[in-house]
Amino acid sequence: MTEDLHSSAWEGVKQSYASGRLAHAYVIVGNPRGNGYQFAESLLKLLFCEAVDRPCNECNGCRKIEEHKQIDVQWVEPRSKSRQILAVDIRDLIKKLSQTSYEGGWKAGVIVSADCMNESSENALLKTLEEPPKKTILLLLTEAPESLLPTIISRCHKVVLGLGRQAARSSWYEPLMELMTELPPQSGLDAARLGAQLKGLLDALKADIADEVETDFSAEAESMEEDKVKEVLDARVKARLKEVQEDIFRVLLGWYRDLLLLAYGVEVDYLDYANEESLLRQQLTVHTPSSALHGIQVIERMASRLDRNIPDTQIFDEGFRQLIRG
Ligand SMILES: [Zn+2]
Repeated sequence: MTEDLHSSAWEGVKQSYASGRLAHAYVIVGNPRGNGYQFAESLLKLLFCEAVDRPCNECNGCRKIEEHKQIDVQWVEPRSKSRQILAVDIRDLIKKLSQTSYEGGWKAGVIVSADCMNESSENALLKTLEEPPKKTILLLLTEAPESLLPTIISRCHKVVLGLGRQAARSSWYEPLMELMTELPPQSGLDAARLGAQLKGLLDALKADIADEVETDFSAEAESMEEDKVKEVLDARVKARLKEVQEDIFRVLLGWYRDLLLLAYGVEVDYLDYANEESLLRQQLTVHTPSSALHGIQVIERMASRLDRNIPDTQIFDEGFRQLIRG
């Protein structure tokens, strides 16, 4: 078991399993050859382990998962030459999932690098996601969930692994961490400055996203009317920006959660931002468990206000003011 599996994502899945409330499909955001793969393997072991305390990692059931020998589990990977997952592969997977399981228990399908599905593969998968067979679970492993159809994402439970490391690859991670070093704000003036800094970061990202979306879209746009092009572009930029915004707030939230855990003396290994330990410890000197909890509540409120029609300048300004430690 790696550190990543100590994360709340793993605990969440284990609890869902224990209460018989596993989702029928998961998008596992992480490295499909690394933490994502391990997470999928552990989840499958939960289902197929023969021990009471699951997963034991030792029994026949667990071993068969590791060796890909469990006959009720299908693995789909991109074809080696085209790097694509073809519709025929997905149809084959669906066919097997719709049959009775060999061992009378769960059936599972794992799609490694699910973002390598082309459009017809994704469409082939959609129907199964809409009407999943009983006692069947689908795991979609991907590093790039934004490349999947929104209709697929919306039908799956999303698990984001090791977000600290995941986010470390994004362009906004460094500037956001710089902003973090100045938390909590000392005064109203300080809060306003930090608010403006976050607003500036989001505005810069919006410009980048607009460029990116436009480039991606140029081929499709040729056959479209101008008005329609603008409409589609605007919608895509808005959707991408919202995703990034959510990621940023998830980092902020995770940060305060780590502060709270540290304040309670939890081991560093269990933190999302274990690699920023010194900064966390430094901020801990001005935080108590209750102020960290307050921080979590403030961040949650800011995130939920962003979904309404409130100017973000106002949201950030007011939010950071509430973070001032008196
Ligand atoms: Zn086992």
